[in-house]
Amino acid sequence: MCQYQTQPLKDSSALSIVIAVVFVSLVATGQSIASVKTSGIWYHVRKGDTVWDIARKYKVSHNSILKANRIQSEKRIHIGKKLFIPGAFPEHKYGTWYRVKHGDTLSRIAVNHGIPVSNLVWRNRLKSADQLQANQKIFIPNLHPSSFAPPMRIKLVLTSDYGYRRHPTLKKRMFHYGLDFRARKGTRVYASKSGKIVRSGWRSGYGNYVLIKHVGGFETLYGHLYIIRVKNEQYVKKGQVIALSGNTGRSTGPHLHFEIRKNGKNVNPIHYLNLR
Ligand SMILES: [Zn+2]
Repeated sequence: MCQYQTQPLKDSSALSIVIAVVFVSLVATGQSIASVKTSGIWYHVRKGDTVWDIARKYKVSHNSILKANRIQSEKRIHIGKKLFIPGAFPEHKYGTWYRVKHGDTLSRIAVNHGIPVSNLVWRNRLKSADQLQANQKIFIPNLHPSSFAPPMRIKLVLTSDYGYRRHPTLKKRMFHYGLDFRARKGTRVYASKSGKIVRSGWRSGYGNYVLIKHVGGFETLYGHLYIIRVKNEQYVKKGQVIALSGNTGRSTGPHLHFEIRKNGKNVNPIHYLNLR
């Protein structure tokens, strides 16, 4: 389904978006790093990470990470620590190119690289999954490091993608601000990330919906729900059941409408969802 508020996706310059991310991150985390004058992202250190690995991953210099975070000794990088990566892009700009071989299928490439097929289709602007030709180059994106968990634990089947489409009931070309996943009525819906319920209830279009606010300027929205199991102002943990899916609002069949917003703007959730 769709979000009907006219929220024009103005192409404000990429730079201003990046700067906004930095500003919001600084405020949200309460960290004051005076030396940060550049754009970048926040990164949560994971098991086995070294500053060298992180620098290589984001194609930035090792020194710039040390400087931006005032790190004297690399031994002080512990799991869960938040590092500012100056110059890194907030979305996974980076990835690798793969040359299609005879007999390759998109599903096989997707599985081999741990990437959802729908992500490859979208990122490569393919019309369908069986449009591959030998020697064609396919972009394999790196998934966003702070990925969101799938909102349901059933096999996710995408029934409507993010972007322009002909609206199924309104019969006109409209922007679809989320992903639609097939789901039988009553399927458990989980918080994709920990956060606070900022809105829930009924709205035309969405039907019963829940909006969760997360750190870093992110929000997730779950629409067409059957039963809501959370209340406004409540904190939820990633993986906690927040609702049962349904077919409420402007919907042509039981499914979950899932959105991710970043600093108030919708983004394509496929870039953030960890579907592996
Ligand atoms: Zn939808």
